Amino acid sequence: MNAETSLLNLKFESAAMLKARVQEYAKSEGFAVVTCNSNIRSLVLRCRHHGKSRNTRNLSDDGKQGTTKRKVVKMSMRTGCPWVLRATINFPYWSINEISGAHNHTSLGRNPMIYHQHRVLADDEYQKLDDYMSAKARNIVMYEALRNANGAPKMTMKVSGY
Ligand SMILES: [Zn+2]
Repeated sequence: MNAETSLLNLKFESAAMLKARVQEYAKSEGFAVVTCNSNIRSLVLRCRHHGKSRNTRNLSDDGKQGTTKRKVVKMSMRTGCPWVLRATINFPYWSINEISGAHNHTSLGRNPMIYHQHRVLADDEYQKLDDYMSAKARNIVMYEALRNANGAPKMTMKVSGY
């Protein structure tokens, strides 16, 4: 039985618990889920790479000075990934009815630092991180960029060699 199949056999006391469990699974697989649709009876989760891709915008460092200005690459995280999970409540428990679609992108979560920090990042921060990774930024750059309100780094440097 694979991981997805075993998810299908679980029952949850709430949609939030279901999503949390799926998010754990997603993390272990190197992706993350977002809520696409939810109401009191059903929940649809998709891979965060779902949806139409926007145009990729490349801002290269062809500035007048020509120089050491860091190249900024902004890439869309949307790849139209078809992965989808549908869950419904069968009172009193929530369960997953369907998981379908194969991911059409490489996973981001294999970076052990990001894997570790997955849960502390808000959506927009994850997006930022995703952009950095797409731009192949070094971890130290991401580490410096993501800070709490008090200025303390949000990520911990768990991995040596970065
Ligand atoms: Zn995906």
